Formats: sequence, C-alpha cells, structure tokens
Amino acid sequence: KPSSDTSGDHIFRSKLPDIPISNHLPLHTYCFENLLNFPDKPCLISGSSGKTYSFSETYLIAQKTAAGLSNLGIQKGDVIMILLQNCAEFVFSFMGASMIGAVSTTANPFYTSTEIFKQFKAARAKLIVTQSQYVDKLKDTTNESFPKIGEDFKVITIDDPPENCLHFSVLSEANEKEIPQVSIDPDDPVALPFSSGTTGLPKGVILTHKSLITSVAQQVDGENPNLYLKHDDVVLCVLPLFHIYSLNSVLLCSLRAGAAVLLMQKFEIGALLELIERHKVSVAAVVPPLVLALAKNPMVAQFDLSSIRVVLSGAAPLGKELEEALRGRVPQAVLGQGYGMTEAGPVLSMCLGFAKQPFPTKSGSCGTVVRNAELKVIDPETGCSLGYNQPGEICIRGSQIMRGYLNDTAATATTIDMEGWLHTGDIGYVDEDDEIFIVDRVKEIIKFKGFQVPPAELESLLVSHPSIADAAVVPQKDEVAGEVPVAFVVRSNGLELTEEAIKEFIAKQVVFYKKLYKVHFVHAIPKSPSGKILRKDLRAKLAAAAAPT
Ligand code: AMP
Repeated sequence: KPSSDTSGDHIFRSKLPDIPISNHLPLHTYCFENLLNFPDKPCLISGSSGKTYSFSETYLIAQKTAAGLSNLGIQKGDVIMILLQNCAEFVFSFMGASMIGAVSTTANPFYTSTEIFKQFKAARAKLIVTQSQYVDKLKDTTNESFPKIGEDFKVITIDDPPENCLHFSVLSEANEKEIPQVSIDPDDPVALPFSSGTTGLPKGVILTHKSLITSVAQQVDGENPNLYLKHDDVVLCVLPLFHIYSLNSVLLCSLRAGAAVLLMQKFEIGALLELIERHKVSVAAVVPPLVLALAKNPMVAQFDLSSIRVVLSGAAPLGKELEEALRGRVPQAVLGQGYGMTEAGPVLSMCLGFAKQPFPTKSGSCGTVVRNAELKVIDPETGCSLGYNQPGEICIRGSQIMRGYLNDTAATATTIDMEGWLHTGDIGYVDEDDEIFIVDRVKEIIKFKGFQVPPAELESLLVSHPSIADAAVVPQKDEVAGEVPVAFVVRSNGLELTEEAIKEFIAKQVVFYKKLYKVHFVHAIPKSPSGKILRKDLRAKLAAAAAPT
C-alpha cells in the first residue's frame, strides 16, 4: 500500500532506498567529481568529425570557457543563451557558465528570429553562443529598437565569425587560472530552459544547482540496480541538448558516471546506425519517433546493433506495439521508458529494469518514481489523493523540481502548491507494483515528436491576424509525430481567408514543428463562463471526426 503522510495523502516512493546526495555542491563540481577515476577516458565524441575529448580535456576547456566568459564581462547570475546543435562547444559553454555562477538558457537553433528573441529578452541574456549559419536570425535591420550584436549583446560563433561576432576561441583559449572565485549557493540557478508548463506561453524554468544534482543522482548515484549508465558505456546523444531530457539524462548523467557521450548534430537514420555500430553505442536515449525509425526502417537490418544494452524512451508516450517491434530489432537490450517534465528537473520516473533484475517493468509503464522523491496521484476535481490503479493528476515533490518560473509568481503558484507539490497536468495511475502509467493529459501542451507546441503561442499569433476574430489550437493524434497542432478559427470578415493562407501566416513565424496541420472554420470557440477555451470539447470533436463511421 502507498504510505500515508501527516496530511493523510497516499504517497508513492521508489522501490530503491534513499541515498545521500551531494546537492550542496555546485553542479560542475558534482559532475566532474569522479574525474580523477577516468581522466583519459573519452568524454565527448563528435559523431561527424570523430574528434574526441577526454574527461580531463573537457574539464580544462570548460574552465577556460569560464575564464573567457568572465573576460567578456559575464558575471555570477548573468544569463547566456546557447543556440547550438549538439556539439562539444555546447558542453564547454554550459559547464563554463556554471563555473562562474552564470546561467545557461538553451534554445532551439531552428527557432525563427521572433522565437529566439522572445526567449532572449525574457531571460535577459547577455551573450549568445551559436553557429554562423544562425547569425542572420539575430538581426533585424528593419527595426531600430532591435538589440544589436556587439552593442547590446555579444555573439560567439563556433565556426568562422560573421561581422561583429567573436570566435569561440576567445572562450576556449582563455587562461583557466583567471576564473574568478565565486561562491555558489545550491539554490542559485544554473539552467533556464523554457517550457509552457500546464498552461499559457513558454516561461523560463529555473533549475538550480541543487535541482540538477538531485535529478542526476536519482538516476546514476548510489548502489544502483537501475544501471542506466555505467563508466564503460557509450551513450548516444542525438536528442537535442537544448531540451532538458538530453541535457540531464544524457550529458550530465554521463559526465557524472564517466560514460562517453557520442554527439550527433541531427537525426539521420543511416548515419545514426553507422555511428552506433562504429562506436559500439551501449545506451540509446530516444523519443518515440526514433523508436519508430529503429523498429521499422529496413536499413536497420544491415547494421550490427548488438552493443546496445539499454534503450530509454521518454518525452512522449511510447505505444506497446512500437515497444514490441523495437524489441525484435534489439533483443539483447532492455527497453524502458522514462517520464519527465522540464519543471520536474526533469525525471519523475524511470524504468528500473535495466539490469533485467531485480525490477523488470511492464510494457507501457514509465517505471517507478525516482528515489529521494515523493509522488502522489490526485483527483483533478477534488484534489484528494488516490490509491493504486486510480487515474488522476500526477504530482511530484523533492529537491529536483524547479525553483519556479522566471519572473512569474502567479504561474509558479499554480504549478507548485504550498506543500511543495509540483502539479504535472498529466493523468496517470500507479499499479500494485508501483509502476506508473500515463494515460492522458489535462494540460494544454501539444507534443510533436516530443517537442513542445504551446497552443497559447499559436492562438496569440492567429488572433493577431486582422481577419481572425478568435482561435483555439488543440492536439490531434498522429501516427508518426504522436500529436500535431490543429486550429479552430473564427473569421472576422466573411469567407475570404483560406486555410492555406492561415497555415502560411503561421508557418512564417514558427519553427517547423509548430506549423498548423489543419484549420477548421467555426462560428464560435466553445468557452467556459469564465472565458476559458473548452479544449476537451474541441479534442472530442476531432476524435469523433476521425472515428470510423
Ligand atoms: P517537457 O517539459 O518538454 O519534457 O514535456 C513534459 C511532458 O511530456 C510531460 O508532462 C508529459 O505530458 C509528456 N511526457 C514525457 N515523458 C512521457 C512519457 N514517457 N509518456 C507519456 N508522456 C510523457
């Protein structure tokens, strides 16, 4: 039975005992704490060039980057934006910033200029580390008040720097002895990913040194029958490091455990399979669309994937059929799901069956709650906690969760309650074996291949169109992407505005996965008396239309 706390709530805990966690340290100290056990082992391997950095080289270049950032005026508490595809410089920048008490906000380099600057401004970033191909997006010559490269903020490129930009060598070749001494409090922020959470627009999620250390420790520290990562593992890093799943469960966990990280800039099935075979990848952190490719692509049969020991899927639900299909392709591997949410640091639960013993998990399960944490399931209407096998909203409590949203106390208060519970907006249940199953979502977010598509963002763009009176965006199930965004639109002047014109209007302003898949014209958007969009009704309408007649 779940144990009860003083308030009488049913609390679910890990099957593993709690462990001591060194979350009083700064994140970089914690991640590199075991460095002396494996200084010369490969730490970062570039998939494209094969260039390898050992643990001691990675640590040294991160230190130099810290000194370089400080030379450029970055101080404790300042924010830098990392706008990079996966590469070693991402790691040096993130760790270097941590070493001087600075904070990294990570963003998708495929974002449009508008999306980048919304985040850049909200985070009050002072510097951007990027690739020269993205620098054009950092300029707007038509707008006088737009921040200017070199004057209002600095841009560092990891390749040939365009005008007014600096080359990454100003960081990586700085003198590591010049790192300023800063005192870092465990509650100081270190990472600032953006997420829309349960409602509204994307917000800065304050992850502190303590939250990230706790989360990494929950995954790889202590006597760990989980064996998600070991020092002799080679871990596939194809998921983008700008998302907390890859940053935490791939990069930070590998640094801590001494595993090598194989960095891939983008997903391409042939290159991926070739790299798995060449580098004998043993741990693959993936998302359901990648599982689909591994399970179904005929090329897979031409490669030797026998080195894979663990496949961890997260960020979106993984169907049982897909799981079975992948099992056929990598029969020697243990497959398991992790369940995460940026605000939760991000891992809430993980499969404990990676060692095949002692806790094999069932197909479709997201494992059990991480250790040193508490989980409860509440009735979304009454807030009462529920026992085994009763679906409700999943809530989590522990030192790994975010400190709050940046400059948004109202959103923080609706997400983390007075007792410290983070409300996920996910509906799930815990079975008698303490395994967690996610069955639905009460929050707005749409997940396209694991990427966040915040409906509120698309709705505000839609209503900015002069011929649109009102709009709502909801998810529609899709076999390949999981979900795609679909809009319901009320036209304000007759019937002239076409579906194509609306799609194009949005596509110009957003990254590829936020593009509208379909537009339905309606006379009114269903709303509650308080004006809230009745998303459930719209989702039901889509489901009814898709159902076979
Ligand atoms: P993000 O903050 O981008 O990581 O998105 C978090 C959300 O993704 C969660 O709140 C869930 O709705 C969804 N999610 C993550 N992992 C899983 C999973 N294994 N199964 C189902 N949904 C998931």
